[in-house]
Amino acid sequence: MVINMAAGASEAELQHIIERVIECGFQPHVTRGAERAIVAAVGSGGSRAALEALKAAPGVEDVVPIAHPFKLVSRQTRSERTRVAAGGVVIGGEDAVVIAGPCSVESREQIFATARGVKAAGASLLRGGAYKPRTSPYDFQGLGLEALKLLREVREETGLPVVTEVMSTNDIELISEHADMLQVGARNMQNYDLLRRLAKAGKPVLLKRGPSATVKEWLLAAEYLLAGGNPNVVLCERGIKTFETETRNTLDLAAVALARELSHLPVIADPSHGTGRRDLIAPASRAALAIGADGLIIEVHPCPERAMSDGAQSLSLEEFARLMNGLAAPLRPVASLCAAEA
Ligand code: PEP
Ligand code: MN
Repeated sequence: MVINMAAGASEAELQHIIERVIECGFQPHVTRGAERAIVAAVGSGGSRAALEALKAAPGVEDVVPIAHPFKLVSRQTRSERTRVAAGGVVIGGEDAVVIAGPCSVESREQIFATARGVKAAGASLLRGGAYKPRTSPYDFQGLGLEALKLLREVREETGLPVVTEVMSTNDIELISEHADMLQVGARNMQNYDLLRRLAKAGKPVLLKRGPSATVKEWLLAAEYLLAGGNPNVVLCERGIKTFETETRNTLDLAAVALARELSHLPVIADPSHGTGRRDLIAPASRAALAIGADGLIIEVHPCPERAMSDGAQSLSLEEFARLMNGLAAPLRPVASLCAAEA
């Protein structure tokens, strides 16, 4: 942190700040200019919050951070990229990983048909909600334990590791017995009690970005997991709230690249929730991979028009297979794009 003293600050006010910086656990480095002084607070053992409070001290104009508030998730702490293994599938390695499946597990037929279909098309993990965070209390809330049992059965048959959402600390143990990776949904990204408990759960976590969260807040949420002892965290950009109404959310692709720049953790994209429109899933998927995403999570349903949640953004099995074929094709080179415009 750098403390900028005001132009008219007195020597006594500057000395007071130097003493407070030491009390806060940092070493003060003072630079005196013609008009004003600045005090750099150096070190890692002290309290940032206490330094920030110095904004209220007499003679201080501003307190400006020079390092990121997250530490363990930062690439400054770990330069090599983290690989997260979920039921034997590595996320964050050479190959992009595709997680696919229904928004909600609805029935034995539905989850088995989906799992077989997405596996045949090349997905590496199966998603399926058992406990659903629905905006309305009157909407389908998920089959709970029944869904977890189906997910376990379908994993045994297909070999696809399973990702499912955990909404409450009360459910962590039960869900951990049935799933390979635990999803923290967008609405719970800042549920710190849940994050603290998931840090000790011994399962990899898929941490979705909150709809209104900044990248910094998202990475600080991941920091809770790492600081609590769980290094196996995959970040997921799933769209944020903006003024746009044609799409359900705005898929923030720059945030995918930025999160990979700031953090060593793998970052995947969710074009289903990120756009809310099945016609945009394929182009958004290609764009996410082009910008560096380590994988995708995509909603697929054997009959989207009958889906009990998120049917409008779910791909049919045929559409998903087509999307997977398209991802394997090379990206159009820039030169041909320019030629097309001319
Ligand atoms: C989901 O994955 O079905 C879901 C509810 O996602 P999000 O938390 O991103 O809305
Ligand atoms: Mn959904």
